[in-house]
Amino acid sequence: MNRQKNWERLRQEKFDICIIGAGASGAGAALDAVLRGYSVALIDRSDFAGETSSRSTKLIHGGVRYLEQAIKKLDLAQLRQVRHGLAERRTVIRNAPHLAHPLAILTPVFSWFEGMYMTVGLTLYDFIAGHDAFPKGSWLNRAQALEKSPKLTPQMHSAVLYYDGQFNDARYALALAHSADEAGAAVANYAAVTDFSREKGQLKTATVKDQLTGETVTIRASVFLNCTGPYADSIRLLANPELSPRIRPSKGVHIVLPRETLQSDYAILIPKTTDGRVVFAIPFGDKVFVGTTDNDYSDLAKEPVLESDEVDYLLETVRPYLAKAPVRADVQSGFGGIRPLIVSSRADTKTLLRDHEIEQDEESGLLSLLGGKWTTYRLMAQDAIDRVGEVLKKKTVPGRTETHYLIGGEGYRFEDWETLHRQYNLPAEVCQQLMKTYGSRAGQVAELTVSQPELAQKLTDQQPYIRAEVIYQVREEMAVTLRDVLARRWRLELADWQLTTQITPQVADLMAAELNWSDAYRQEQVQNYHRLLTSFAKQAGLPAERSTIAVAN
Ligand SMILES: Cc1cc2nc3c(=O)[nH]c(=O)nc-3n(C[C@H](O)[C@H](O)[C@H](O)COP(=O)(O)OP(=O)(O)OC[C@H]3O[C@@H](n4cnc5c(N)ncnc54)[C@H](O)[C@@H]3O)c2cc1C
Repeated sequence: MNRQKNWERLRQEKFDICIIGAGASGAGAALDAVLRGYSVALIDRSDFAGETSSRSTKLIHGGVRYLEQAIKKLDLAQLRQVRHGLAERRTVIRNAPHLAHPLAILTPVFSWFEGMYMTVGLTLYDFIAGHDAFPKGSWLNRAQALEKSPKLTPQMHSAVLYYDGQFNDARYALALAHSADEAGAAVANYAAVTDFSREKGQLKTATVKDQLTGETVTIRASVFLNCTGPYADSIRLLANPELSPRIRPSKGVHIVLPRETLQSDYAILIPKTTDGRVVFAIPFGDKVFVGTTDNDYSDLAKEPVLESDEVDYLLETVRPYLAKAPVRADVQSGFGGIRPLIVSSRADTKTLLRDHEIEQDEESGLLSLLGGKWTTYRLMAQDAIDRVGEVLKKKTVPGRTETHYLIGGEGYRFEDWETLHRQYNLPAEVCQQLMKTYGSRAGQVAELTVSQPELAQKLTDQQPYIRAEVIYQVREEMAVTLRDVLARRWRLELADWQLTTQITPQVADLMAAELNWSDAYRQEQVQNYHRLLTSFAKQAGLPAERSTIAVAN
């Protein structure tokens, strides 16, 4: 992906569709549209998945809790959502097997009755999923459960096992955007829509500001598709100030604990919290993510960071399920996102459906893809582009994303790490990490170490990241800020604020050389990022050593 080249295309071409927002919804829609033969522009004011789509629980699921609600309320629409989610699990994994895989999840229960209740529910869940590649669940006695997850509390009666999907959300969105770019879309990050021009009320152009240089371009398109998730109302109102808001933003956070908290590849589902929700504790790399919460959120200009009382709530929630309860000092980082729930008359956001809707504003012609969840991004994109097709009245081939491999997905075999190991003489753990991150493109990263052997060096002993990756991410994956590399192309910022701070100066050196940063600019980037991470630790109320990270830069 070449940002400069794409920026020039945005200036010069007229597009069938300009998609605003490159999270799950927008990046998914761009790939769907370009594969049908439309000319497509995809822009985001931040990075790809710079907002909610990099901060999810990272589950590809039908939703066990939604199934319970669907049955209790005899809600067929909710049941359909569960079915769609379950059906999509296999497609999400099939198309990018390096970024998504089945995850075993244990639900510890404290009585026979509770175990029976969960077993019936999860058997139904498996039944709705039908015959897919996912293993089926079972009811385990206490000894069996402890064998799989030794840190669970011995106080439990038993545990119910089931399977869902887990994925690397930010890299999945990046793979969608990258795949759309390779198929011919003009894709650019840090490109914010600031205004529209109209002819007879209908949108004709969008004014787009380069967030890095301040330069503006005017994008011409036949249709503008708003995929800005929780921020959708700002684009809707920019297009037509008469519209009423439709989004009810809801904040959800996670805390991050060391892997030893579970010491297992099995996740835990906590079926009922004090406020009637579910919480997951999920192994992710060498950490455990615990979340999430669900609270109304109004200040959309502010990043939804983890706050001190949310740390208490999540620690309190996992405590009864573990033999040794984690404490505040164990928390290594955290992250928060905003759900793009669609407004309903109901009072409580927990009862809002994570369903999606495609809204067409007759006055301005703006189409908006509202709501939804990561799991069903592909169906949402397909629906949105079907609607765009009706507006454009341009005949194309039907959507083809169901069987389209994403970048790195085609020809992926994890075992190929051994070939990399032999061919490039890189450590085994490095090659395995390259395969899981770049899929069948891992060889392109390794190849960089041939002409510049110093790029084979790791950035830290604690993680298998090598210098060549930063170069690849800048050249091929449009990384332009430190956070692009450390939070999204790698997931280190989510997992460990201290280690992120430690390796930031080295990442900055590599990026500065590639992107021609001046010394002053490089230093400013490092300092701003350190300040940001320090403020995260402070707001989460973490112990002093996590918030006063003094590193020479
Ligand atoms: C805590 C939490 C956990 C979740 N867990 C799961 C889960 O496990 N599984 C699941 O299926 N779903 C989950 N979800 C839901 C899922 O993450 C979201 O539904 C999905 O990521 C929304 O994607 P989106 O593209 O609509 O929005 P976003 O990812 O927020 O993307 C919108 C984009 O629009 C851009 N934008 C905004 N304004 C402009 C502008 N003026 N110009 C250009 N670009 C602009 C933003 O920069 C942003 O990148 C979770 C959500 C939360 C909050």
